Amino acid sequence: MIPAQFQYAAPASIPDALALLQSNPDAKILSGGQSLIPLMKFRLAQPAMIVDLNNIGGLDYLRDEGGWLKIGALTRESQLEDSALVREKYPLLYDTTLSVADPIVRNRATLAGNLAHADPANDHPATMLAYRAQVVATGAKGNRTIPIDDFFQGLFATSLASDEILTEVQIPAPKPRSGGAYMKMERKVGDFATAGVAVQLTLDAAGKVEYIGIGMTNVGLQALRAKRSEDALLGELPTAHFIERAGLFAQQDCDPNADLRGSVEYKRNLVRVLTMRALEKAVARAKGNG
Ligand SMILES: Cc1cc2nc3c(=O)[nH]c(=O)nc-3n(C[C@H](O)[C@H](O)[C@H](O)COP(=O)(O)OP(=O)(O)OC[C@H]3O[C@@H](n4cnc5c(N)ncnc54)[C@H](O)[C@@H]3O)c2cc1C
Repeated sequence: MIPAQFQYAAPASIPDALALLQSNPDAKILSGGQSLIPLMKFRLAQPAMIVDLNNIGGLDYLRDEGGWLKIGALTRESQLEDSALVREKYPLLYDTTLSVADPIVRNRATLAGNLAHADPANDHPATMLAYRAQVVATGAKGNRTIPIDDFFQGLFATSLASDEILTEVQIPAPKPRSGGAYMKMERKVGDFATAGVAVQLTLDAAGKVEYIGIGMTNVGLQALRAKRSEDALLGELPTAHFIERAGLFAQQDCDPNADLRGSVEYKRNLVRVLTMRALEKAVARAKGNG
């Protein structure tokens, strides 16, 4: 498949990229191209101009700074996968990165692009909801920080303006006794999720849940937070009873469609099971196991 005609620009700085976006409201930003290029090839997207960020230096960083993991706009999935910091301190992010597509896609795909694309089937949105991450949007007037709960606005829709660039993702550094896990069911390796569940939690000194975030992938028009499941566990010891309750709430509160990956009933049951398994793994990791 051949994309429709488009103009191509590869600016060397953020201000130059912003100027191009402002003067071309139909332009699209290109980062890893792993979602945009296939859409253009199928002519599901026909942007008049592509603003390629890949010539802008200094955007591919990963920094543990001021209580946040800061991830630049051009940081690739493969960098997250290769990072000892991510593997050891952010196991939920590590699990999620490993579950995205395949190594070839991960060599190009960026976390920022994964979030900006806002495909409900993408894996990182649920994980960022579980972490209560935030993103930095850069526009002509400077930077604004958007809490992740305000970022996703529906199917392929975010609160980014068309002339803003998502320049940084910020994940709060987990406190001691924290753990996280991502559980995804896919039809075959590299596929999008039939359903996925992300859990991040922190236990207090007595072993009770003092922080919890649960996000769900591909069971709604956008990534969803399982708020009643979170509430069921907050302040409690994460026993089998409360984990089961949390699973049942997630089953009731997700909103999947029937498709080739399964019926509504199947996906709801899958969410229940994945929620319980992700919780069990996150608790084990918070206790220093797994
Ligand atoms: C074979 C295959 C399998 C895949 N499997 C999975 C999977 O299992 N899980 C999963 O989550 N994803 C999967 N994907 C999708 C893809 O990996 C992600 O959507 C990808 O991470 C998007 O990032 P990108 O950098 O490639 O974005 P691009 O394709 O460059 O851009 C995607 C969209 O985001 C916008 N955008 C990109 N960067 C920015 C920015 N910095 N600021 C503002 N807007 C921006 C673009 O304009 C475009 O609309 C798969 C893709 C392929 C080709």
